[in-house]
Amino acid sequence: MNAEACLFCRIVAGDLPADIVHRTDHTIAFRDINPQAPVHVLVIPRTHVENAAALTAEDASLTADLFVAARQVAELLGVADSGFRLVLNVGDDALNTVPHLHVHVIGGRRMDWPPG
Ligand code: AMP
Ligand code: ZN
Repeated sequence: MNAEACLFCRIVAGDLPADIVHRTDHTIAFRDINPQAPVHVLVIPRTHVENAAALTAEDASLTADLFVAARQVAELLGVADSGFRLVLNVGDDALNTVPHLHVHVIGGRRMDWPPG
């Protein structure tokens, strides 16, 4: 998929509005448009990576940046101590709908396990 066609690449480019809560050199984080909890933020790489299964050893630094950013988002939005869930959906059975890697940061309520 080229960057022009990708929803989240368009958010990175500033062509689509988003409620951005956190930025680093390599990531941005914005509120999910259909939140499943009081805190529901998506952390994405600024570069296009299809999903977590497309990551390689060359993406080690980027992968660390994503998880550090996710932790910073949790701190920023006040759920670092109460707990939060990080979710990466890959493929159809996981209901992955946007083919640009994103880490869901979900918190602010008690969750169930296993997920549906
Ligand atoms: P996934 O099912 O893991 O691919 O998650 C994609 C997420 O992106 C869903 O939770 C959607 O609600 C969210 N989403 C889709 N479009 C937008 C958008 N324009 N801004 C913010 N979140 C979005
Ligand atoms: Zn993209």
